[in-house]
Amino acid sequence: MKKIFFLLLFSYFPLHVCAADYFDRYKADKINASVYVIHGPLELPSAKNRGFMNNPAFIIAAKSVVVIDPGSSHETGSMVLREIKKITPKPVSHIFNTHIHGDHWLANEIIQQQYPEVEIIADPRMIKKARAGAAQSWIDTLIAMTEGATKGTRIAYPVKAVSNAEQLEIAGLRFNIHATDLAHSGTDIMIEYVQGSTFFTGDNAAYLRISRMDEGSFRDSIKALDKAISTQSKYYVPGHGQTGDVKIVKLQREYLNTLYTQVKKSYEEGLEDFEMKPAIRAALIKFKNWSGFEDELGKHISLARLEIEAAEFE
Ligand SMILES: [Zn+2]
Repeated sequence: MKKIFFLLLFSYFPLHVCAADYFDRYKADKINASVYVIHGPLELPSAKNRGFMNNPAFIIAAKSVVVIDPGSSHETGSMVLREIKKITPKPVSHIFNTHIHGDHWLANEIIQQQYPEVEIIADPRMIKKARAGAAQSWIDTLIAMTEGATKGTRIAYPVKAVSNAEQLEIAGLRFNIHATDLAHSGTDIMIEYVQGSTFFTGDNAAYLRISRMDEGSFRDSIKALDKAISTQSKYYVPGHGQTGDVKIVKLQREYLNTLYTQVKKSYEEGLEDFEMKPAIRAALIKFKNWSGFEDELGKHISLARLEIEAAEFE
């Protein structure tokens, strides 16, 4: 009997401790008087990071809390709630989702469970895509990538649609919404919190991580970053990597612009993707230690070339 008890204990306990321990290491960093960001790891979702890789953020308003991108799973959402409760007993009244990629928003549901009145806000294209099957496919992708660590995460769709140039007053705070056509994923909004001079770029900008561009556009992403820069915000919160000032947005712009203009030049010279890659890699050498650089470079070159070819017919 004793033996069975220990067997049971050890087969259950390590897993349980692992999940709790893993999220214990993260805490909300105070960015300014009212904005907090939990800076997630830069690596792709895995069993080790339990699917956590984005930057969940929250803003403390007079009577409630506004969350931006609560993360990928019920566990990341629980961590966000835990960090909010350390700072304030106020309820979460609103959640912004910056785009369709599941690492940013699948934690909506755990927050909604706790605060059923919460209003979830996103671009209408994101809402449509999520409902058309992308939400479930992201749930499945994350379970596969994390070997089951995100299991149990359920979908809570955004319901309130906001688009480029809208000005919102929510929870007593002013927000300007910025978007440009396809940008990073074809579903993106960027959120400028006016009084806090804080700009949430979503994945239009990342710091020390090279983002996927499979559903995006280099030219629209560069335009999005120009908009972000033009707000002259004091704080910029990227989708991944540390929060900073406008320099992190300019660095992201430099990566995208260098890649796009170099591919265009090489394409006009008649080079194939593999022939242009060494020179483009050299032009982007300052980014070589960014997470995802080697994985994404070849793909980014092909995607940029396709965009350049398509632009010839515009
Ligand atoms: Zn993304």
